[in-house]
Amino acid sequence: MLFHSDLILNAFIIFLPLIFYRPFYKRKNPFFLYVLFLVPLLITMTFPVKIFDSVLDLRGIPLVIGSLYGGLYTTLLLFGSLLAYRQALGGIDLFHYAIALIPTAVLLLIAFKTFDGASAKKRMLLVFGMCFFLRVTVVNIYALLEGNPSFFMASFVPSLPIILVQCVMAVMLVFMIETIRAQHRMQEEIIQAEKMKVVSEIAASVAHEVRNPLTSVRGFIQLLSDPSLGDRKRQEFSAITLEELDRAESIISDYLSLAKPQIEKLEPIVLEEALAKASQILSSYANLQNVEIAADLTSSATVYGSKSKFRQAIINIGKNAIEAMPGGGKLSLAFTVNEQARTVTVTIADTGIGMSEQQINRLGAPYYSTKEKGTGLGTMVIFSVIRGMNGRIDVRSKEGAGTTYYIMLPLAQRA
Ligand code: ADP
Ligand code: MG
Repeated sequence: MLFHSDLILNAFIIFLPLIFYRPFYKRKNPFFLYVLFLVPLLITMTFPVKIFDSVLDLRGIPLVIGSLYGGLYTTLLLFGSLLAYRQALGGIDLFHYAIALIPTAVLLLIAFKTFDGASAKKRMLLVFGMCFFLRVTVVNIYALLEGNPSFFMASFVPSLPIILVQCVMAVMLVFMIETIRAQHRMQEEIIQAEKMKVVSEIAASVAHEVRNPLTSVRGFIQLLSDPSLGDRKRQEFSAITLEELDRAESIISDYLSLAKPQIEKLEPIVLEEALAKASQILSSYANLQNVEIAADLTSSATVYGSKSKFRQAIINIGKNAIEAMPGGGKLSLAFTVNEQARTVTVTIADTGIGMSEQQINRLGAPYYSTKEKGTGLGTMVIFSVIRGMNGRIDVRSKEGAGTTYYIMLPLAQRA
């Protein structure tokens, strides 16, 4: 019977790394991957399954896959642990066993580069080949070294079907890892695409905003060219001209800091600074729509996350709020700190059209939009960023009266 209960249990153990793979996706730490694949390696070695008089030995799967995904250090650690634990289990000539492993180790070292740049399909093929190679070389070389040349025909050939089953299991694991990776990549791309859309829309309002100071600078320069102008007046006009130019410059640099592609870096975020920056970027957009921004940023708090992503989330919320007030209105931005619970709540309120209960429930679902040119990706980005910061979002809204976003975030650990 192929579907032995032990086999199913072992299969489950093999797929164990998947459960933890996603949360730690970003940490490409070789030591972390080592631990992730060490656990199934040790468990499968401790509880081998006997089928058809042959031992179904799944240890090769975490060994090969962990090595290929983790790189050199993970490989060395996994092979070292395999040898150490095999010695501890006893009943083996460790020296012969180590020699039998060498061809696979060498092949892995050669395959790293190819594996890194390979497509998912190619990776599955590589893992299949590698698992098969491992099984063929290890048992046969070991048998030869132990002076048992009849092993190949007597034991190895009959167990070939089971070896193939193992290789297929390994391919399934790679398939799942690759699916998780593809999903993750797609989400990142959506965030990027929505960001570019917001950037291009805000560009229009920035251009508009910059035109005002330029017009006044032009006027003052005209005044300055009057030879009958007194020294005091001349000084005053020059000062105003410089101020206006500085304003234009700061609007442009705010805009550029929004548009610039940023490397994601997890760091402490000073909340009052991040919100002030976001409200500055939003202000040109708000002016265009006749919306007044009231930011109360007198408290002080620090949260932890990616600065650029957090700012993007706040801008997306603010942009929706402004768009909900076509006839003008007020956008309020504030936050309150709860020292006891070690949390902070950011409140973003508008006096716009509001949403029905049903609309609120659909927020965050991709492609849900009530706007003619909407994408429905803005809120998706908001929710994914805040979730990534271990935060929570609560939306209250009343149709015709306005909407309030409450964002609850954990405070950063004090240094
Ligand atoms: P988009 O802005 O492209 O429509 P979003 O994901 O940013 O996509 O928003 C989805 C929908 O949520 C909007 O179309 C709108 O109906 C609703 N919405 C979001 N925020 C507000 C708000 N502050 N007031 C009213 N409706 C809102
Ligand atoms: Mg939007």
